[in-house]
Amino acid sequence: MIKIKKAKTIGFCFGVKRAVDMANKALECDQKIYSLGPIIHNPLVVKKLSQKGIRVIYNIDDIKCGKVLIRSHGIKPSIRKKIKNKGLKILDATCPFVERSHRIVNDIKNKGFHIIIAGEKSHPEIVALAEASGNNMDIVINVKEVKKLKIKTKKILLLAQTTLSKGLYRQITQAAIDKNPFEVRIHNTICNDVAKRQDEVTRLSRIVDLILVIGGKNSANTKRLVQLCKTGGVRAFHLEAEKDLKKNWFKNVKSIGIMSGSSTPDWAVDEVISKVKKIKI
Ligand code: SF4
Repeated sequence: MIKIKKAKTIGFCFGVKRAVDMANKALECDQKIYSLGPIIHNPLVVKKLSQKGIRVIYNIDDIKCGKVLIRSHGIKPSIRKKIKNKGLKILDATCPFVERSHRIVNDIKNKGFHIIIAGEKSHPEIVALAEASGNNMDIVINVKEVKKLKIKTKKILLLAQTTLSKGLYRQITQAAIDKNPFEVRIHNTICNDVAKRQDEVTRLSRIVDLILVIGGKNSANTKRLVQLCKTGGVRAFHLEAEKDLKKNWFKNVKSIGIMSGSSTPDWAVDEVISKVKKIKI
């Protein structure tokens, strides 16, 4: 029988659980709730919520009335303003850790710092944060991009996307220091839950033959966990649900690690584990 080691930090993170709980609670007394983009990066959960009545929209102009749910990644200040101007109600599920990055940017934006954020340019969290800075920040995803930057002031402020890998942020901050500014202010905005998952997956990759990382195919933090396993030298597969399991993955495998992205519900993890337990090799 395959030995299973389940990560301790698994299932929904605090911010995602909070957003899903807020959506479910709101549905108890209101049937006209719109989510601006999928509430989380997990198609299974999005489907269940849409069956209960949460409708996903991509443009605020598409609705005339109802309540708009802001997902955990937050939204651009201009869209928040537009929602208010239309007289629509807001159900704000922006994760407090994402709000913290907005506060940092708001406090510093006119104080002469060159703001650099380490993250993905098209990720909704970064898109919103960029606008909050007055589109006055550089977004970088690797050291090469930092090297190309022309630093406009003597002071640099660094932040990271909440789901960035710690190793990558370390490299990016070092590259910023290497540009020899007078002052470098580094904020560790990587979420603690994400950091714990990264540490656990790195530890697991040393002691098991294979790691299954469960999460939406569109989830950046899940993809990053898979990448960390591979960097650690262990085979790893990214799957959304038990139906994605393939028997041939388990050939000669004696032990496996189970990890999930932060928008994966516990029940999806449990379903994978119970199916793995039934696999005969
Ligand atoms: S991963 Fe962290 S920052 Fe993102 S929603 Fe979850 S708790 Fe919040």
